[in-house]
Amino acid sequence: MAPKTGEMLHLRGNALNAGEPVTLPLTQSSMYHLPGVTDGLPTYGRVDNPTWEHLEHVLAHLEGAPCLTFPSGMGAISAALFATLKAGSHLLIPSDGYYVTRVLADQFLSGLGVTVTERPTATFTEGGFDGFDVVFVESPSNPGLDMLDLPTIATAVRVAGGITIADNTTLTPLGQRPLDMGIDVVVASDTKAMGGHSDLLMGHVASRNAQIMERVVEWRRVSGAIPGPHEAWLLHRGLETLDVRFDRMCSSAQVLAERLAVHSSVRQIRYPGLPSDPSHALATAQTSRFGFLLSITLETEAKAEAFINACPMLRPATSFGGVHSSAERRARWGDDVDPAFIRLSVGCEPVEELWQAIEISLNAL
Ligand SMILES: *Cc1c(COP(=O)(O)O)cnc(C)c1O
Repeated sequence: MAPKTGEMLHLRGNALNAGEPVTLPLTQSSMYHLPGVTDGLPTYGRVDNPTWEHLEHVLAHLEGAPCLTFPSGMGAISAALFATLKAGSHLLIPSDGYYVTRVLADQFLSGLGVTVTERPTATFTEGGFDGFDVVFVESPSNPGLDMLDLPTIATAVRVAGGITIADNTTLTPLGQRPLDMGIDVVVASDTKAMGGHSDLLMGHVASRNAQIMERVVEWRRVSGAIPGPHEAWLLHRGLETLDVRFDRMCSSAQVLAERLAVHSSVRQIRYPGLPSDPSHALATAQTSRFGFLLSITLETEAKAEAFINACPMLRPATSFGGVHSSAERRARWGDDVDPAFIRLSVGCEPVEELWQAIEISLNAL
């Protein structure tokens, strides 16, 4: 069910006592006043923090599931994987998803006795899911924007005795709800659209499976991978405007995609909201918005660089989901894409102002 973002804005207010601040206090403390019996009290800053707790209450409202925060998206992904894998486990991951997840699997998990298999998102279901303990998916994939049939995969993996983890960073819980489609665990980088202002790194894990969440809680407490209270406070503030930002970003992305699709400098475009896009049918079935990420391939690498660096309304930067539109050539990080392939993250600029800047820069190539 779609989250009620109005109710989210009043979660704190409706639980207040007279005289308390309406906005969330930022608690910077490693110690709590604990004379004698400590039952039910916060104990220590690695275990308890009221600023995280309220943030997690708000995130749980958005996800429709218990939620735990981490100091980055990779912190959340590591927690989900360490909580569910052990020596001898088989892990399936996409070969074209967020590349650091593959690095984690190849450089660390495989050294601990986990067998790692990679498959491209476009042919992910080929070969079935027998024998996999954990199947990690990313839909749409970053940066290719290929999509997976999540309900079918969730069922097939469950029948085969495994669990599914979905990285939902690119669409946020407002755009896609993997848990409602049967996925066991959602992980996300809140560094992107959830925070939305490019001024923090954070991540979260959400699941309706109590045993998995218990392991994730224990992993955070023991590994010490805790978010800073100030980052938690900033993310909470960012979430208050997620609905308006996401709405503007997705609407603008649709407008830009339709115009870019017919621009003579654009050799190829991917945006799930275009009826001609290979992901359109799955996106229509599974998502409530088509997202704010699109990709264009220009004629040459040189032209792609010239466009990104000259356009006054595109920050040439890695990462995405911020209020400022940004773009980069993903081949520079080794993603298996054309050298002239640009991932474009549409921000909150008024769409006509943004289009004018993009069109002038494309026409000048
Ligand atoms: C950015 C990103 C991550 C990692 O998040 P960090 O906050 O940078 O650690 C994971 N998955 C996807 C899809 C991402 O875009």
